[in-house]
Amino acid sequence: CGIIGILGQHEVSPQLVEALKRLEYRGYDSAGVATVDEAGRLDRRRAVGKLVNLSDRLVHEPLTGHAGIGHTRWATHGAATEANAHPHRRGPVAVVHNGIVENFRELRDEVIALGMEPESQTDTETVALLTAWHMAQGMDAIQAARATLSRLHGAFALAFLFEGETDLMIAARKGSPLAIGHGEGEMFLGSDAIALAPFTDRITYLEDGDHAILRRAGAQVFDAEGRSVEREVQQIDVGS
Ligand code: GLU
Repeated sequence: CGIIGILGQHEVSPQLVEALKRLEYRGYDSAGVATVDEAGRLDRRRAVGKLVNLSDRLVHEPLTGHAGIGHTRWATHGAATEANAHPHRRGPVAVVHNGIVENFRELRDEVIALGMEPESQTDTETVALLTAWHMAQGMDAIQAARATLSRLHGAFALAFLFEGETDLMIAARKGSPLAIGHGEGEMFLGSDAIALAPFTDRITYLEDGDHAILRRAGAQVFDAEGRSVEREVQQIDVGS
Protein backbone atom coordinates (compact mmCIF):
# COMPACT_ATOMS: atom_id res chain seq x y z
CA CYS A 1 0.00 0.00 0.00
CA GLY A 2 3.06 2.22 0.17
CA ILE A 3 6.24 2.36 -1.90
CA ILE A 4 9.60 3.92 -1.21
CA GLY A 5 12.80 3.86 -3.21
CA ILE A 6 16.21 5.40 -2.53
CA LEU A 7 19.38 5.76 -4.57
CA GLY A 8 21.43 7.26 -1.77
CA GLN A 9 24.93 7.96 -0.52
CA HIS A 10 24.67 6.05 2.77
CA GLU A 11 23.17 2.85 4.16
CA VAL A 12 19.56 3.01 3.03
CA SER A 13 17.76 0.32 5.00
CA PRO A 14 17.16 2.53 8.10
CA GLN A 15 15.97 5.34 5.80
CA LEU A 16 13.65 2.97 3.96
CA VAL A 17 12.04 1.86 7.22
CA GLU A 18 11.72 5.49 8.40
CA ALA A 19 9.99 6.42 5.16
CA LEU A 20 7.68 3.41 5.41
CA LYS A 21 6.64 4.65 8.86
CA ARG A 22 5.47 7.84 7.22
CA LEU A 23 3.24 5.73 4.95
CA GLU A 24 1.75 3.72 7.83
CA TYR A 25 -1.35 5.91 7.83
CA ARG A 26 -2.43 4.15 4.62
CA GLY A 27 -2.73 0.84 6.47
CA TYR A 28 -0.80 -2.37 5.80
CA ASP A 29 -0.49 -6.00 6.85
CA SER A 30 3.17 -6.71 6.09
CA ALA A 31 6.30 -4.92 4.95
CA GLY A 32 9.66 -5.48 3.32
CA VAL A 33 12.79 -3.93 1.90
CA ALA A 34 15.39 -4.92 -0.71
CA THR A 35 18.80 -3.38 -1.25
CA VAL A 36 21.67 -3.61 -3.69
CA ASP A 37 24.97 -3.44 -1.84
CA GLU A 38 28.15 -1.80 -3.09
CA ALA A 39 29.23 -5.11 -4.65
CA GLY A 40 25.97 -5.25 -6.58
CA ARG A 41 24.36 -7.99 -4.47
CA LEU A 42 20.58 -7.87 -4.27
CA ASP A 43 18.95 -9.08 -1.06
CA ARG A 44 15.68 -8.57 0.81
CA ARG A 45 13.98 -8.87 4.22
CA ARG A 46 10.26 -9.15 4.81
CA ALA A 47 7.99 -9.47 7.83
CA VAL A 48 4.30 -9.87 8.52
CA GLY A 49 2.61 -7.33 10.79
CA LYS A 50 3.91 -4.07 12.16
CA LEU A 51 6.99 -2.32 10.85
CA VAL A 52 8.73 -3.06 14.14
CA ASN A 53 8.80 -6.72 13.06
CA LEU A 54 10.70 -5.69 9.94
CA SER A 55 13.10 -3.44 11.84
CA ASP A 56 13.72 -6.24 14.40
CA ARG A 57 14.49 -8.58 11.52
CA LEU A 58 16.92 -6.00 10.12
CA VAL A 59 18.71 -5.78 13.48
CA HIS A 60 19.37 -9.52 13.45
CA GLU A 61 19.87 -9.86 9.70
CA PRO A 62 21.10 -6.46 8.48
CA LEU A 63 20.87 -5.40 4.87
CA THR A 64 23.64 -3.20 3.57
CA GLY A 65 23.58 -1.07 0.45
CA HIS A 66 23.13 2.48 -0.74
CA ALA A 67 20.26 1.62 -3.08
CA GLY A 68 16.97 0.11 -2.01
CA ILE A 69 13.22 -0.21 -2.27
CA GLY A 70 10.61 -0.71 0.45
CA HIS A 71 6.96 -1.61 0.67
CA THR A 72 4.01 -1.78 2.99
CA ARG A 73 1.46 -4.28 1.72
CA TRP A 74 -2.30 -4.25 1.86
CA ALA A 75 -3.03 -7.71 0.52
CA THR A 76 -5.34 -8.02 -2.45
CA HIS A 77 -4.12 -11.33 -3.92
CA GLY A 78 -2.86 -13.92 -1.44
CA ALA A 79 -2.95 -13.92 2.36
CA ALA A 80 -0.80 -11.68 4.56
CA THR A 81 2.17 -14.06 4.79
CA GLU A 82 5.91 -13.51 4.51
CA ALA A 83 5.97 -15.37 1.19
CA ASN A 84 3.39 -12.96 -0.21
CA ALA A 85 5.08 -9.85 1.21
CA HIS A 86 7.00 -7.57 -1.12
CA PRO A 87 9.65 -7.11 -2.48
CA HIS A 88 9.08 -10.03 -4.82
CA ARG A 89 12.24 -11.35 -6.31
CA ARG A 90 13.31 -13.64 -9.11
CA GLY A 91 16.95 -13.91 -10.06
CA PRO A 92 18.32 -10.41 -10.70
CA VAL A 93 15.00 -8.57 -10.23
CA ALA A 94 13.19 -7.25 -7.15
CA VAL A 95 9.82 -5.54 -7.41
CA VAL A 96 7.47 -3.63 -5.11
CA HIS A 97 3.94 -2.90 -6.21
CA ASN A 98 0.80 -1.09 -5.13
CA GLY A 99 -2.48 -1.85 -6.77
CA ILE A 100 -3.62 -4.78 -8.86
CA VAL A 101 -2.28 -6.43 -12.01
CA GLU A 102 -5.66 -7.35 -13.50
CA ASN A 103 -4.33 -9.85 -16.05
CA PHE A 104 -2.02 -11.64 -13.62
CA ARG A 105 -3.67 -15.05 -14.15
CA GLU A 106 -2.81 -14.98 -17.82
CA LEU A 107 0.76 -13.82 -17.03
CA ARG A 108 1.13 -16.41 -14.29
CA ASP A 109 0.07 -19.20 -16.66
CA GLU A 110 2.50 -17.84 -19.21
CA VAL A 111 5.52 -17.85 -16.89
CA ILE A 112 4.59 -21.30 -15.58
CA ALA A 113 4.49 -22.53 -19.19
CA LEU A 114 7.99 -21.05 -19.58
CA GLY A 115 9.13 -23.26 -16.72
CA MET A 116 9.13 -20.79 -13.83
CA GLU A 117 7.52 -21.66 -10.54
CA PRO A 118 5.82 -18.88 -8.54
CA GLU A 119 6.66 -18.79 -4.82
CA SER A 120 3.67 -16.68 -3.80
CA GLN A 121 -0.03 -16.21 -4.49
CA THR A 122 0.37 -12.56 -5.45
CA ASP A 123 -0.36 -10.79 -8.70
CA THR A 124 2.89 -8.87 -8.13
CA GLU A 125 5.25 -11.83 -8.37
CA THR A 126 4.34 -12.31 -12.04
CA VAL A 127 5.98 -8.91 -12.69
CA ALA A 128 9.28 -10.13 -11.21
CA LEU A 129 9.03 -13.48 -12.99
CA LEU A 130 8.32 -11.98 -16.39
CA THR A 131 11.11 -9.41 -16.04
CA ALA A 132 13.61 -12.08 -14.96
CA TRP A 133 12.58 -14.17 -17.94
CA HIS A 134 13.14 -11.26 -20.34
CA MET A 135 16.60 -10.75 -18.82
CA ALA A 136 17.37 -14.44 -19.20
CA GLN A 137 16.57 -13.97 -22.91
CA GLY A 138 19.32 -11.35 -23.10
CA MET A 139 17.51 -8.08 -22.46
CA ASP A 140 19.13 -5.54 -20.18
CA ALA A 141 17.32 -4.36 -17.06
CA ILE A 142 15.62 -1.39 -18.72
CA GLN A 143 14.51 -3.31 -21.80
CA ALA A 144 13.23 -6.14 -19.63
CA ALA A 145 11.23 -3.85 -17.33
CA ARG A 146 9.73 -2.08 -20.34
CA ALA A 147 8.82 -5.37 -22.00
CA THR A 148 7.04 -6.40 -18.79
CA LEU A 149 5.29 -3.05 -18.31
CA SER A 150 3.85 -3.26 -21.83
CA ARG A 151 2.06 -6.45 -20.76
CA LEU A 152 0.42 -5.19 -17.57
CA HIS A 153 -3.24 -4.24 -17.25
CA GLY A 154 -4.75 -2.68 -14.17
CA ALA A 155 -3.97 0.12 -11.75
CA PHE A 156 -0.55 0.09 -10.19
CA ALA A 157 2.59 1.79 -9.00
CA LEU A 158 5.79 -0.23 -9.38
CA ALA A 159 9.44 0.03 -8.51
CA PHE A 160 12.19 -2.28 -9.82
CA LEU A 161 15.67 -2.86 -8.44
CA PHE A 162 18.33 -5.06 -10.07
CA GLU A 163 21.24 -7.22 -9.01
CA GLY A 164 24.50 -5.75 -10.28
CA GLU A 165 22.94 -2.28 -10.76
CA THR A 166 24.00 -0.02 -7.90
CA ASP A 167 22.75 3.14 -9.63
CA LEU A 168 19.45 2.18 -11.22
CA MET A 169 15.84 2.10 -10.18
CA ILE A 170 12.85 1.90 -12.51
CA ALA A 171 9.46 3.29 -11.58
CA ALA A 172 6.10 3.05 -13.30
CA ARG A 173 2.70 4.46 -12.60
CA LYS A 174 -0.74 3.67 -13.95
CA GLY A 175 -3.62 4.62 -11.68
CA SER A 176 -1.82 4.54 -8.34
CA PRO A 177 0.16 7.66 -7.36
CA LEU A 178 3.96 7.77 -7.44
CA ALA A 179 6.37 10.65 -6.93
CA ILE A 180 10.05 11.14 -7.67
CA GLY A 181 12.10 13.08 -5.13
CA HIS A 182 15.20 14.97 -6.26
CA GLY A 183 18.13 15.11 -3.84
CA GLU A 184 21.74 16.25 -4.10
CA GLY A 185 23.39 13.28 -5.79
CA GLU A 186 20.52 11.16 -4.50
CA MET A 187 17.17 10.20 -5.99
CA PHE A 188 14.03 9.05 -4.24
CA LEU A 189 10.74 7.46 -5.06
CA GLY A 190 7.61 7.43 -2.95
CA SER A 191 3.88 6.92 -2.94
CA ASP A 192 3.54 10.52 -1.78
CA ALA A 193 5.55 13.61 -0.88
CA ILE A 194 4.98 12.97 2.84
CA ALA A 195 7.12 9.83 2.68
CA LEU A 196 9.88 11.80 0.98
CA ALA A 197 9.72 14.88 3.23
CA PRO A 198 12.75 13.90 5.36
CA PHE A 199 14.88 13.65 2.21
CA THR A 200 13.73 16.35 -0.19
CA ASP A 201 10.99 18.85 -0.98
CA ARG A 202 11.65 18.80 -4.73
CA ILE A 203 9.08 16.46 -6.20
CA THR A 204 8.02 15.30 -9.64
CA TYR A 205 4.65 13.56 -9.82
CA LEU A 206 4.54 10.88 -12.47
CA GLU A 207 1.50 11.05 -14.72
CA ASP A 208 -0.66 8.14 -15.66
CA GLY A 209 1.16 5.70 -17.94
CA ASP A 210 4.59 7.19 -17.21
CA HIS A 211 7.67 5.21 -16.38
CA ALA A 212 10.96 6.61 -15.16
CA ILE A 213 14.61 5.56 -15.19
CA LEU A 214 16.21 6.82 -12.00
CA ARG A 215 19.92 7.27 -11.41
CA ARG A 216 21.61 9.37 -8.73
CA ALA A 217 22.38 12.04 -11.34
CA GLY A 218 18.72 12.40 -12.33
CA ALA A 219 15.53 10.87 -13.65
CA GLN A 220 14.37 10.37 -17.21
CA VAL A 221 10.60 10.16 -17.60
CA PHE A 222 8.79 8.49 -20.49
CA ASP A 223 5.08 8.68 -21.27
CA ALA A 224 2.70 5.85 -22.13
CA GLU A 225 3.89 5.95 -25.76
CA GLY A 226 7.52 5.65 -24.66
CA ARG A 227 8.37 9.25 -25.58
CA SER A 228 10.85 11.06 -23.38
CA VAL A 229 8.92 13.81 -21.56
CA GLU A 230 9.64 16.66 -19.16
CA ARG A 231 7.64 16.60 -15.95
CA GLU A 232 7.66 19.60 -13.66
CA VAL A 233 9.79 19.63 -10.52
CA GLN A 234 7.64 21.14 -7.78
CA GLN A 235 8.72 22.61 -4.48
CA ILE A 236 6.44 20.96 -1.93
CA ASP A 237 5.83 22.12 1.61
CA VAL A 238 4.68 19.14 3.66
CA GLY A 239 6.66 19.95 6.78
CA SER A 240 8.79 17.16 8.20
N1 GLU B 1 -1.81 -6.63 -5.22
C1 GLU B 1 -0.60 -6.65 -4.48
C2 GLU B 1 -0.62 -7.71 -3.41
O1 GLU B 1 -1.64 -8.16 -3.00
C3 GLU B 1 -0.22 -5.27 -3.90
C4 GLU B 1 -1.11 -4.82 -2.79
C5 GLU B 1 -0.75 -3.41 -2.28
O2 GLU B 1 -1.11 -2.43 -2.95
O3 GLU B 1 -0.13 -3.31 -1.21
O4 GLU B 1 0.39 -8.11 -2.95
